[in-house]
Amino acid sequence: MKNKIITANWKSNGDTNSLHNLLIPIIDFIKKKESMLKLIVVPPFVYLNQVHNIIINTNIMLGAQNVDIHSNGAFTGEISVDMLKDVHVCYVIIGHSERKIYHKESDLLISKKIQIVQNAKLIPIFCIGETEQDYKNGITNQICQKQIDSVFNVIGEKAFNNMIIAYEPVWAIGSGRTPSIDFIQDTCGHITDYILNIQNVKKKSFFIQYGGSVNESNIEKLSKVIEIDGFLIGSASLFISRFLKILTKY
Ligand code: PEP
Repeated sequence: MKNKIITANWKSNGDTNSLHNLLIPIIDFIKKKESMLKLIVVPPFVYLNQVHNIIINTNIMLGAQNVDIHSNGAFTGEISVDMLKDVHVCYVIIGHSERKIYHKESDLLISKKIQIVQNAKLIPIFCIGETEQDYKNGITNQICQKQIDSVFNVIGEKAFNNMIIAYEPVWAIGSGRTPSIDFIQDTCGHITDYILNIQNVKKKSFFIQYGGSVNESNIEKLSKVIEIDGFLIGSASLFISRFLKILTKY
């Protein structure tokens, strides 16, 4: 049976009211729909505990949008992996392009964050993908390989065991544009083959999501791509009617 893992990345959006408005209909939907769908909700840090209290006793999982590489201590403004565990987080998005653009996160820092998360037995959602210029230059595979190599160099081949890799073309995030289905299929196939080759194994021990302007109009087409195990969804996960349409059509 095909894996179906959806990550809803709320980014820096929402307030106490919107948590309920979004989550209650989703919980109702999931209860009614007998499905293999696994949903990871990723709210801003300050709402993690409240979201946990709403989704407790459901099979919705909790994710965080970032983590610091340091453990608890004198790191004003940072959130440690121990704190994330303390509030029942299971997944952490690492290397999102918005963190690279606005916070200048490097491949090395991202690799170290993945290591910290894995050492704490949490699951990283490792975002990789090319810029528009890279895409136009036809070097998407090389860019993804470089991002994967960085993690391999820091952690080794075991890094990719039990990890979600989100292929997110930077130019597709929040833009309303997506690559063609063939392109997504080829790129995700290449990412899988490249990691299997690094690990020197035949069987995949990681999951691949596609992210970048997934919405209620393109989900059916995108879900036909067998190389992907699910989707990382930003904007469309913030509107309950749109998000429920996506869940219904997936
Ligand atoms: C994202 O935040 O990773 C994302 C894919 O956003 P959007 O769905 O809005 O493109």
